[in-house]
Amino acid sequence: MVDKISRKSGSREEMPVEPPVGSVVDAEGVRASLTRLMDIYRDISETADKVAVRRCPYKDSRSRCTAKFECRNQHFVPDKPGALAICTGSDKLDYRKAWQVD
Ligand code: SF4
Repeated sequence: MVDKISRKSGSREEMPVEPPVGSVVDAEGVRASLTRLMDIYRDISETADKVAVRRCPYKDSRSRCTAKFECRNQHFVPDKPGALAICTGSDKLDYRKAWQVD
């Protein structure tokens, strides 16, 4: 048995790992589901690869910079000392040229 969180109720329920005794596994259906799942993962991976070339890995989902080094694209808001800088990078250029490295 495996714990699984129900999508409907959010509660934990136990789902059987093995098919019930006497049931027939639809091998072709399973194969089709796995192929579909792999297609979805491939699409996600390809999109992530494309975005990773343009979007700086230090930019969070709210366009704040999490880098621990200086970058020309960082804009610190004077009224918020200690807050993360706003990233002013456009995601259209190679962000690595803006990093201040030794
Ligand atoms: S481009 Fe610069 S400012 Fe923007 S997230 Fe990356 S390191 Fe931070």
